[in-house]
Amino acid sequence: MRQIFLLILLFIVGQWLVKALRRQDARASQRTGTGANGASGTKGQAGANGGAQPAAQAQPQLPEPMIRCVECGVHAPRSDSVVVAGQPFCSASHAQRHGARPSGRDAR
Ligand SMILES: [Zn+2]
Repeated sequence: MRQIFLLILLFIVGQWLVKALRRQDARASQRTGTGANGASGTKGQAGANGGAQPAAQAQPQLPEPMIRCVECGVHAPRSDSVVVAGQPFCSASHAQRHGARPSGRDAR
């Protein structure tokens, strides 16, 4: 009986070793494959970015004209401003505050 148990044990251990060796080979092949793909991909992306960035930075642009708030004097982009009665304001609250006191510094 002991010999049969030893044979079974040896058989199991042998198969386990074969599996372990196959796993190591599979991992090694996967590493080489992914490494080659990753290197080529990063190279392509870097080239595209390098070509696009200098053209965008070459022309400094002011996308929106700035207006000066009549109430507080803060400069704000025109899209964020509120124009009431031909006078620009940085926000609707400043426009309301300016209209609330009609006889201010503008009542000359
Ligand atoms: Zn303001």
